[in-house]
Amino acid sequence: MTEPMHEVYAIKFGENPGGTRGEYFHGCAADPRDQSMQLDYYVWLVRTAEADIVVDAGFTAAMAQRRKRTHFRAPSEALALLGVDCAAVSQVVLSHFHYDHVGDLDAFPNAKFIVQSSEMAFWTGRFASRLEFHRLIEAEDIVRLVELGLAGRLEYVDGERELAPGVRVHLVGGHTPGMQIVSIATARGTVVLAADSSHFYGNVCGDAPFAVHTDLPGTYHAFDVMHGLASSPDLIVPGHDPEVLTRFEPVPGTEGTAVRIA
Ligand SMILES: [Zn+2]
Repeated sequence: MTEPMHEVYAIKFGENPGGTRGEYFHGCAADPRDQSMQLDYYVWLVRTAEADIVVDAGFTAAMAQRRKRTHFRAPSEALALLGVDCAAVSQVVLSHFHYDHVGDLDAFPNAKFIVQSSEMAFWTGRFASRLEFHRLIEAEDIVRLVELGLAGRLEYVDGERELAPGVRVHLVGGHTPGMQIVSIATARGTVVLAADSSHFYGNVCGDAPFAVHTDLPGTYHAFDVMHGLASSPDLIVPGHDPEVLTRFEPVPGTEGTAVRIA
């Protein structure tokens, strides 16, 4: 039996136009260091015949102000442009716990959040307070995740899990210890939502790691896993690349915000 064909969308809710290549790329690939690069913020939607599965929860306007990011709308409002009723969503995948992926959790009051056990262990463990890790998260988000866990609303995964027929999460590590990606069976083939396993096309397609990681070999391992899963390299969707919005068809009426990947 063939797997069902699902729809996949990328939806932009914010941006950081002021970054440089030197900030974003590790090692040799960081040159020229002062080349300006825009970084976009997205959430993703997997639409199956039965349900909408959301990937990542973005961040709020208040957090955007605190971190000096451009914020166009709440992730939940961005999803609503595609007809998603966030109160009805039952599954939200959290790729990892950096502030720009877990900031708007309460917009999904009836969801279970799919997380890797190793991600929770790391951010509640001994090294999370160290500057180079702590600067990338918000304590209030981690506290909220602990509360959600105690309320039975975290679905812990250790490795791989099928969320619906043809929709799977895969632990890859590298960027964070519990970094996970999502593979989806679609009419175009298998799409991979990389999130921060590849911020830009230049990471996974150029074999050039992003500047931030907890495990550099793990970052390369993630590239290998994504290439192995995706039906073609152009079906790997980077987590922060502005080019996603130009490579795929805009959803009518949402130009500059939402594209249909498949
Ligand atoms: Zn990240």
